[in-house]
Amino acid sequence: QGAEEILVLSNVESAYGPIKAIRGVSLKVRQGEIATVLGSNGAGKSTILKTISGIIDPNRGSIHFRGENITAKDPADVVRRGLSHVPEGREVFPLLSVHDNLLMGAYTRSDRDAVARDIEAAMTYFPILRERERQDAGLLSGGQQQMLAIARALVASPQMILLDEPSLGLSPKLTKEIFEIVVRINRERGTTILLVEQNANMALNVADYGYVLENGRIVMEDRCAVLREKEDVKEFYLGMK
Ligand code: ATP
Repeated sequence: QGAEEILVLSNVESAYGPIKAIRGVSLKVRQGEIATVLGSNGAGKSTILKTISGIIDPNRGSIHFRGENITAKDPADVVRRGLSHVPEGREVFPLLSVHDNLLMGAYTRSDRDAVARDIEAAMTYFPILRERERQDAGLLSGGQQQMLAIARALVASPQMILLDEPSLGLSPKLTKEIFEIVVRINRERGTTILLVEQNANMALNVADYGYVLENGRIVMEDRCAVLREKEDVKEFYLGMK
């Protein structure tokens, strides 16, 4: 509490043609914290992240990152300002090697020595990627591809990472492993994280602050320790009665 806000969304609306996917979303993420947006399939979670990173332009509202207005900026510009997006479904380049996928994370930069150092630093969190560095990314398992997608985001040396559904299609064991690494990245590098998840249980355990999204609107927000104890969160998102 009291830490400075690094990301602020005010009344953001985004649509796909006639389909309104998010309807006036306001949220804040404080520097150094892990925040999460929970919601069921189709609630609009991915759309929030795509709007922040500039993949989709909002129809209304504003987005500020580190005090600067980044509303509808180019994705490359947003990355350059220190905000990296790990998309849903990882989206690694299957025919490129692990190393070349990591290099893609530095596409906005030209300082080769620093990039090489940042690739090394990213791989310290995922030793398996070092072993597989020369293999095609398409040969990695789903969990390893998720690791690669996170490592690729780290190569941009971001202040903040947008993480879309890292648990998708992974076993509980691998999910746990990946979440532990995400927490380490947050603690050791001070990287702020906005995590979007259908796996509410996992997300509420690692995040500090949470928002609940339904039909494109935030319907609840609180510290995760508090959200975990709310009856409707237990019932609808944690499968308890
Ligand atoms: P999921 O976990 O399935 O990705 P989500 O909460 O991230 O769910 P979004 O992907 O943001 O939800 O989708 C929000 C709404 O926008 C849904 O109704 C969805 O059908 C719609 N939508 C998403 N992408 C598109 C698109 N490219 N074209 C049209 N409608 C879309």
